[in-house]
Amino acid sequence: MWQTGGVSEEDKLTRAQARTILGRVFKMAEPFRKSMIIAFACVMVTTSATLSAPVIVRHGIDAGIRAKDTGALNLSVVLYLIVVTFTYVFGRLLFVFVNRTGESFLRVLRLAVFKQMQRQSMAFYDRNKAGVLVARMTADIESMSELVQWGLLQFLSAALMLVFSIVVLLILSWQLTIVALLVMPVLVISSIKFQRDSNRAYLTVRERVGANLSALQEGITTVRVIQAYAQEDEVNRKFKISNRSLFAAHEKSVRISTWYFALVEFSGVLASALMIGIGGWFAHRGTVTLGTVVAFVLLLSSLFDPVQQLSQLYNTVQSAGAALNKLFSILDSKPEVDEHHSAVDLPQTGELKVSNLSFTYAGAEKPALDNVSIKVGVGEKLALVGPTGAGKSTLAKLMARLYDPQTGKVEFGGVDLTMATMDSLRERIAVVPQEGFLFNGSIRDNLRIARANATDAEIEAAIDAIGATDHFAQFADGLDTEVRERGSRLSAGERQLVALARAALVDPAVLVLDEATSNLDPGTEAEVEHALERLMAGRTVIVVAHRLSTVQRADHIAVIADAKIAEFGSHSELLALNGHYAELARAWQKSHTVTS
Ligand code: ADP
Repeated sequence: MWQTGGVSEEDKLTRAQARTILGRVFKMAEPFRKSMIIAFACVMVTTSATLSAPVIVRHGIDAGIRAKDTGALNLSVVLYLIVVTFTYVFGRLLFVFVNRTGESFLRVLRLAVFKQMQRQSMAFYDRNKAGVLVARMTADIESMSELVQWGLLQFLSAALMLVFSIVVLLILSWQLTIVALLVMPVLVISSIKFQRDSNRAYLTVRERVGANLSALQEGITTVRVIQAYAQEDEVNRKFKISNRSLFAAHEKSVRISTWYFALVEFSGVLASALMIGIGGWFAHRGTVTLGTVVAFVLLLSSLFDPVQQLSQLYNTVQSAGAALNKLFSILDSKPEVDEHHSAVDLPQTGELKVSNLSFTYAGAEKPALDNVSIKVGVGEKLALVGPTGAGKSTLAKLMARLYDPQTGKVEFGGVDLTMATMDSLRERIAVVPQEGFLFNGSIRDNLRIARANATDAEIEAAIDAIGATDHFAQFADGLDTEVRERGSRLSAGERQLVALARAALVDPAVLVLDEATSNLDPGTEAEVEHALERLMAGRTVIVVAHRLSTVQRADHIAVIADAKIAEFGSHSELLALNGHYAELARAWQKSHTVTS
């Protein structure tokens, strides 16, 4: 199970985890094997070419210049040119192949994660906040792109370069190899230290980026409330703190890199100086040739660069591994509300029956529903009323199988909802949420959310069924009117009409409604009421009610209090009971609507 908190902890991987992840990556990269092999071949060519250039220079100096053999010198020059061209051409080819493979891998991964997110149930989205999921798809994928684009190959080429260059050095001269390796311990020790420090610094940066992002997100989503209560200064102060600590973390990581790279550079200079000094002395004594000394000076970078690259890569690998780990855990999270392997279609119609239902939200201490049983006959209307937090919405959601209960069951026409095929479930039972959410696109597109293959005629029929044809006909573009993101152009009432039309398009046997708590403007209010009435006609309805008018129309009323059904009956029966409901009805009569 993956958690949203504790960034630094979740960013650390054990060796076993790292191995599993690597295995899965290779499996996922299977389709790109050809490009990977080509890339690997390119690495081999560029490594060999890079290493052979100094050897050719050596030949040019010793056999050409010093032995005064023009032929040998010319050959060296030509060979050198060829080898350098090879390095360049294959280097570019490598770039193309590595990038293509890397991006293709990320494309496949993004799609897999997105699809998996779409399959998840409400419970998943309770656990994982949208911001965190967005971070999975952006920041985590981003932190991997470095690895898949360059990292893996750089790792390979650095390792190859290191091994091959030592071999070449040893072949040329073991004495000079010892000289070349003199500064190695300093480099290796500082690289290890750098790798540790920078990894720690990196984790801190990430953690603070996360904190800063949450501060930002909260600042944006709550801006209305903040401004209403003139809390801008306080919010700014908080953001300033998290921003400053992010700055400090960045500074620290820059400091670490600064001294490390200075040291690496100095080691390089020192090694060259030692090579020229000691090598020159060797050459003077005739132990090695001048060409060999020059070749060694040139080869030093092939020896030192990989050490530096490998230590830097460690962090890339570490962060990519952590990102992959989180992405894989999304890929692995089985949707809780899923189709049973022997699922059956729900019957066309039937009684909706809740038996001994108990449900606790993940992480909650108290159950939101505690042993609830209730029945709604075909075409009957059930209103759920009660104080805020009593469990009304939860019951409504379970009756539409947006969640699965921990104990007890919900049946439609005698079939347990957990045993129903998803298609038949969504066809029979439609949920109309409190806020009609609109997607970018036209009104028509927004209705098609309910049924992708609906024809224009069916869409028009659905709008007609709720009596909203005239309303949308007023728009210049009619049903082709773009609703813009989040429906900023449609009024709340119009959004509600779209939501109701969506349900009409599904033409379900059961409607689960969460009635809007706020008042609409009187003009559209009447239209929405009318649309609702038409939509409810002939269907079984479960409505989380906030208005007296809605409750009075219901056949049965269930008063939910403290996760249980406290009272059950018709409006008049419950009034006569003079309990919770009677009290609630009196309050409603005073204010016409409730705010619960
Ligand atoms: P009502 O609709 O009666 O206002 P709900 O069914 O929304 O009440 O909530 C019942 C209880 O479950 C409340 O204590 C609420 O805080 C809790 N709850 C509701 N939704 C969630 C959720 N997604 N995750 C955790 N707890 C929740």
